[in-house]
Amino acid sequence: MIAENLEIVRKTIQRTAENCGRNPNDIRLVAVTKTCPATAIQEAMLSGQYLFGENYIQEAERKIAEIAPAAQFHYIGHLQSNKARIAAQIFQMIETIDSLKLALTLNRHLVQIGKTMDILIQVNTGNDAKKSGASPEDAENLVREVSSLTNLNVRGLMTMPPFFDNPEKVRPYFRQLRSLAENLREKNLFHDNKKVEISMGMSNDYPVAIAEGATLVRVGTAIFGSRQ
Ligand SMILES: *Cc1c(COP(=O)(O)O)cnc(C)c1O
Repeated sequence: MIAENLEIVRKTIQRTAENCGRNPNDIRLVAVTKTCPATAIQEAMLSGQYLFGENYIQEAERKIAEIAPAAQFHYIGHLQSNKARIAAQIFQMIETIDSLKLALTLNRHLVQIGKTMDILIQVNTGNDAKKSGASPEDAENLVREVSSLTNLNVRGLMTMPPFFDNPEKVRPYFRQLRSLAENLREKNLFHDNKKVEISMGMSNDYPVAIAEGATLVRVGTAIFGSRQ
């Protein structure tokens, strides 16, 4: 099941990229494994998937301990400062930095363990009071501040737009994130302005996100089935 689903998602990524004139290799699939057992991650690895996304620190810590070190994990949940110490240890990237306070705490833990981490700034493109993320207006300032911290590399932006059944309704939010990233790239604000990461798109809308410039798509349900 997981192998077949992965194949479908990969083919969709490839076809969508080609249809809009993008190189499929510029788009990385983050297989979202929140609530899935470690065995599901191992099964995906047997099909060549090595990049995963997790939302809950304790769950991720337990599962990552069981998984071969070849796998990489991105944190995509809302990070609380009191979990930043563990997050610093177990993740390759944190996609959801949305405040200077959180960045400072994470940086302090990274300094202690002598590790540098790639991060994304989460932007609340929908300006939704219930969602985390810096407002689009504050994003530039936050990118500048976080970039000044010694052990964090700001690689790009991430968003989790409002949910719509019709993925076309999400397109304006993806477009907004892309244009914000482009704007900050022109000001040379990212760690690597030749390769700026844009994390957007989930099971329901990742083809639209790819058409709008995503470099990381975060897909759970379409690979592992629906969660409880
Ligand atoms: C759960 C989650 C996903 C994956 O959602 P699906 O609809 O299952 O593909 C992607 N991004 C974030 C931030 C999530 O929390």
